[in-house]
Amino acid sequence: MKMKLSLSKVVGSCRLGTLTNLGKKGIQCMDIPGCLLYTKMGSAPHLTHDTLKTVKDVPVVAQLPLPALVELQEVMEEYKEGIGKFVGMPDSVVYCSLHDPAIFSPPGYNNKKAVSIWGSGGRMEMTPSKFMTIQQALQPDWFQCLADGDTIAGEVSKKRAKKSVDRSLSFLDECLQLQEQFPELQESVMIGVIEGGNVLEERLRSAKETAKRPVGGFLLDGFQGTAMAKDTKLELLSSVVAELPEDKPRLIHGIGRPDEVLELIERGVDVFESCFPYQVTERGCALSFSYSYHPDPDRDVLQENGKPTMEESKDEKTKTETLSGVQEMTAFEICLKEKRYQDDFGPLVSGGCSCYCCQNHSRAYVHHLLMTNELLAGVLLMMHNFQHYFAFFCSVRDALKEDSLDKLKAIIFRQTD
Ligand SMILES: [Zn+2]
Repeated sequence: MKMKLSLSKVVGSCRLGTLTNLGKKGIQCMDIPGCLLYTKMGSAPHLTHDTLKTVKDVPVVAQLPLPALVELQEVMEEYKEGIGKFVGMPDSVVYCSLHDPAIFSPPGYNNKKAVSIWGSGGRMEMTPSKFMTIQQALQPDWFQCLADGDTIAGEVSKKRAKKSVDRSLSFLDECLQLQEQFPELQESVMIGVIEGGNVLEERLRSAKETAKRPVGGFLLDGFQGTAMAKDTKLELLSSVVAELPEDKPRLIHGIGRPDEVLELIERGVDVFESCFPYQVTERGCALSFSYSYHPDPDRDVLQENGKPTMEESKDEKTKTETLSGVQEMTAFEICLKEKRYQDDFGPLVSGGCSCYCCQNHSRAYVHHLLMTNELLAGVLLMMHNFQHYFAFFCSVRDALKEDSLDKLKAIIFRQTD
């Protein structure tokens, strides 16, 4: 069974469609634009499989970052039935990404023979043969090919951008050759990686050459972080996407803010991560933005009552240190650590969030859990944040179906000021 992408609507570069024949049995499907389920080694952060089941619209494709899986290689070689079954997600479609988006990868450690990946135990060097032997043991449904994406921090020279493309293409060819030799990987889809930093001609070369190879989809890499100006990013993405075949999905990592997601969907990106709601959870915050583009005056009133005005929230914007650097709170969330919530008995989001946390608990309770460092705080916030984020993607698809993406975009952008 081969993965298939059917597009039901294309407006400009923006695509609405379904990926079918996914997974080992080839029976799963995923709507695009959509997102992956972010996991650490197969389980959503803070959640057990049972608690995850209460979250609505959970993505079919689970992202399992490679760094956490490397140590499992021997166990998986003995187990022989693949990582999906091993982690208790036999029905999920497993996508193995090269890096963990929540873990910072220091620059300067790649060379033409190997790419460095970073896990909790530090740095690991991946040569194509080591990388493919691990994939053979893991047997993921999709995997990101080995690539040199070390072009994110600061100014990247033309020479460095060219190197990232040359190396990534040679890794790709080596990995494709190895894949042919491994019977365990015949059903697995390799995602080709497009590199080239901020140099247009290198980006185009990377896209054209990668598209010539038998990959199942494309990852637009190296756009995470803030070093590259936003306009440059968007221009590069438009040019790169124009070089890609229509019948394969385009993924991106490290971009998750709702406003940025919409801008990228308009430029032809199909699949995002869900690391953003995880990061929101880690700073003790709850997603609170409105994604409802249908006029509903009652709901708007509730939202305004529930959310602090922008001026208030700006004063108290909290900065939280995480592994990937300073993660600043965005305008799409409220910080439950703030004192104002200690006697706020309303749900995290007023206006009818149906998540387990909003249905059963108050802001005051979550505030108290955070203040006393109770693990339950992360569980409840993660349940809400995932459900809110997944619902946002449903809303994006509905808006596309109904030709209302502009309306949704206006609502999202109004909340960024
Ligand atoms: Zn909720």
